[in-house]
Amino acid sequence: MSANTHQFQTEVRQLLDIVIHAFYSDKEVFVRELISNASDALEKLRLKQLTGAAIADPQRDLCITISTDKDKHTLTIADSGIGMTEEEVVEYLGTIAHSGTKKFLEAMKESQSGPQDLIGQFGVGFYSAFMAADKVEVTTRSWQPDAKPVVWASTGQDSYTLDSAPQDTPRGTSICIYLKEDAHRFAEENSLRYIISKYSNFVGFPIKLDDERLNTVQAIWMKNKKDVTAEEYEEFYKFINHTDSAPLTHMHFSADAPIVLNSVLFVPAENPEAFGFGRCEPNVSLYCHKVLIDSKPENLLPEWLRFLSGVVDSEDLPLNISREMLQDHTLLRRISGIITKRFIKHLETMAKDDADTYEQFWQKYSRFIKEGICTTWEHKDALAKLLRFESTFTEAGKLTSFADYVSRMKENQKDIYVLYGASRAQLEHSPYLDALTARGFEVCFLTDGGDQFVMDSLHKFDDKEIKSIDRANLELPPLQNQPDRPGLDEKQGKKLTDWVSSAFADSFSKVSLSERVTSAPAIALQGENDLSPEVKAYLKAMGQTVPESHPEIAFNPHSPIVQRLAELQTENEEVATLLAGQIINTALLRAGMLDDPAKLADNSQALLEKLLSK
Ligand code: ADP
Ligand code: MG
Repeated sequence: MSANTHQFQTEVRQLLDIVIHAFYSDKEVFVRELISNASDALEKLRLKQLTGAAIADPQRDLCITISTDKDKHTLTIADSGIGMTEEEVVEYLGTIAHSGTKKFLEAMKESQSGPQDLIGQFGVGFYSAFMAADKVEVTTRSWQPDAKPVVWASTGQDSYTLDSAPQDTPRGTSICIYLKEDAHRFAEENSLRYIISKYSNFVGFPIKLDDERLNTVQAIWMKNKKDVTAEEYEEFYKFINHTDSAPLTHMHFSADAPIVLNSVLFVPAENPEAFGFGRCEPNVSLYCHKVLIDSKPENLLPEWLRFLSGVVDSEDLPLNISREMLQDHTLLRRISGIITKRFIKHLETMAKDDADTYEQFWQKYSRFIKEGICTTWEHKDALAKLLRFESTFTEAGKLTSFADYVSRMKENQKDIYVLYGASRAQLEHSPYLDALTARGFEVCFLTDGGDQFVMDSLHKFDDKEIKSIDRANLELPPLQNQPDRPGLDEKQGKKLTDWVSSAFADSFSKVSLSERVTSAPAIALQGENDLSPEVKAYLKAMGQTVPESHPEIAFNPHSPIVQRLAELQTENEEVATLLAGQIINTALLRAGMLDDPAKLADNSQALLEKLLSK
């Protein structure tokens, strides 16, 4: 084969353009990326070996070899891993086949800052070599015994060349970087040794620099927790996430029964779905006794835990498990269950012992916990303990939990009371609070858009029903130690409510007298099957038809205005109707249920005209 020139795919050209022309303070990440690719290639080869496939060059040690030529200004990173066939080289090093790179390009379009943060975040990998290279030459021979070795070369412009390599090329991949003038230091042993030691601590294969062994191979998840330092966890996190920032928290968990499990999981310091990056991909790798089986298995952990990164290792997994088998493997489901449970427990303990960190976690990841409650049945109750919110008993900005709420419940209180709305400030003026406050009951302020769905899935906490206090069917115990207050008796009350029902025939599902109202003349209540105003606003915004509501009106029998209304009803029905309209529309307005504010304005004008006419 003579050297063939191939054009890069458009997206690769765009990517190379960014990589070559942008200014980087930390060019050295390319070393990390190439070592990480070498390590991936070796992991894949080890798995092939263990599953008994026929392999080219079977005797070759699994290792990464780094060499430099100071005079020629070259750096070569070679591995004895899985290698690539000609077709694979064309696919992997000429197109953007994998999602990380695609996402990087998308994020670059949105981002205000330079690419250096993003490179770490997406691990754009191979092409980062062009940050330091005038030319890159890749010589590779696949593990498949009859594959032909090839040489790929490019200066990072529009194209690359492909040529055949000698048949005795050793199995694996060797990448030679012809260093740019401002990158010559990467051919100096001392600075190189420093960079490699920084990035290679967790590579599962020996790394040799001119025959000197640089790293000690260790799988920290297999170690005893006590023997791993905080720095080591942090370094490991940085290694697997291609990042320079530390994680928010980690969990190291080992078990021998019923399944042998070793796992280290990390919560990133920032929610990977914040800043419009879209849905993140799970980043927890699956190992079987230190052998990588799959770096991104899809169903290892439940969807709502997709923000985690780390390692799960189980000796009980069959090594030759295929991706398809992983989709639906009972053992995997059990592993998922055990780890999920332990992680929830980890968060619970953190909430108790390290409240500050938990609060940070909650600020960034509450949506995932809520998603968990809505989408899993098994862990719902445990997850409910992790919820945080403000309440009538907390200061503004301070959070509480259902467990704390329950510990403060009054003796005659059966249920947990919640109220949905846009903000604490809005909810503090809710007409529904009066009745609860008068009884000394706490009310939770739930101000996140999806909270009603979350509470509907939960339904209960600690055997206590969670009740929205704007519902008409809310039953409250009678007020204790109340002085007798004057008010309408039963007969007067019935006469009034019957009259209002017929005067406003089609509007309400029910009109009643209620001890729930303490200061206002009346309140409007959500009918049992009505959607809350927030959900209705949401449906409306989504352009969906909003089902009609049937609110209930409850009059306060002790209100002087209501008592006067009852009298007026016989004295002057016309004024009584206008007054009742005024009371009812005001109640609807306060409850956020008045569809058309003009109704209230028209009614009050008519009432004023009537009262002031001579
Ligand atoms: P990623 O590692 O995230 O897949 P990269 O850009 O780093 O993305 O690499 C692209 C692909 O090129 C890899 O997925 C792999 O298939 C192939 N590749 C890169 N380096 C090597 C190597 N040393 N040995 C074998 N294949 C490699
Ligand atoms: Mg890579």
